[in-house]
Amino acid sequence: MKAIQFAETGGPEVLQLVEAPPPVLGPHDVLVRHHAIGVNFIDTYFRSGLYKTALPAIAGQEGAGVVEAIGASVTRFRVGDRIAYCLGPLGAYAELHAVNETRAVRLPEAISFDVAASALLKGATARYLLRKTFRVERGHSVLIHAAAGGVGQIAVQWAKHLGVTVIATAGSESKAAIARELGADHVLITSQGDIAKRVRELTNGEGVHVVYDGVGKDTWEASLDSLRPLGMMVSYGNASGAVPAFSPLLLSQKGALFLTRPTLFHYVPTAELLDETAADLFDVIASGAVKITPPARYALADARQAHADLEARKTTGSLVLIP
Ligand code: NDP
Repeated sequence: MKAIQFAETGGPEVLQLVEAPPPVLGPHDVLVRHHAIGVNFIDTYFRSGLYKTALPAIAGQEGAGVVEAIGASVTRFRVGDRIAYCLGPLGAYAELHAVNETRAVRLPEAISFDVAASALLKGATARYLLRKTFRVERGHSVLIHAAAGGVGQIAVQWAKHLGVTVIATAGSESKAAIARELGADHVLITSQGDIAKRVRELTNGEGVHVVYDGVGKDTWEASLDSLRPLGMMVSYGNASGAVPAFSPLLLSQKGALFLTRPTLFHYVPTAELLDETAADLFDVIASGAVKITPPARYALADARQAHADLEARKTTGSLVLIP
């Protein structure tokens, strides 16, 4: 099968199109023939070496397609089922992948493979951020960074659906227009001055209840300074680099803040929680509360370009690879 492998860590150029042996099925695995493969920022962390994995590795953790074979002990799926998975083991950037059945969900007819590969991982993330990490309520104000990005687009719409005031950031005017279109109440362009100062102006000097920050190093300080006392800092990604070490005293100085660095896996460790998450996500998509912008489609062989575009902040919404 065709696959995108990296044998060393580095820039997008380490991604190589290879002919790899088809995956070996374990007893609880399903073999998925991909129709669309999700590209996520985390894929670049494994490729760059920020997150560790054994090498050589086939990149990617999310895909959607049809079950082609099942392991002897599989109970959740049958051959021919339309499924999607996220948090699979690395290996999604390929024509086929073997995924533990607990990591996959059945797709309703209304959810296309492109939508599933665009939205399962990112939508599951938006859901736990807004419903579990800090449960937003009507009347809250939230700051969402990179609002025109993959997670960002879903989070902005879902937050509005839950009745909160959304202050969003975006890297350019065209991205800001997307965030406004999705319902953000206020959009700040990151290069145009002091984010925290503008957040305070928009919140009567008080600051927001929660910041959802997937940008990391570049926005860390502005995020802390945008929070009201006892506010919740949710640092869930490192698109601009990892947040450097700091003293917990900083949190007391900034207003006895709460801080968490969550990961999706810890919110959906079981098949039941993944099913519940996916059902919620597919509901908000089906109702129109969350619209999934058609993803930018790249051929599997062009995975390098997809990574380069994502890291250069050239993309909006989701990216998928088509095998
Ligand atoms: P995005 O589509 O959001 O792409 C990243 C965006 O970050 C860019 O488009 C850009 O938006 C912004 N950004 C700001 N500074 C930089 C920079 N220096 N380099 C690159 N991008 C920058 O990606 P995803 O939706 O895939 O992921 C968003 C974040 O969520 C990532 O940090 C990812 O790791 C994290 N994540 C975390 C999960 C978890 O459970 N912890 C699960 C899923 C995702 P702009 O130009 O508008 O600023």
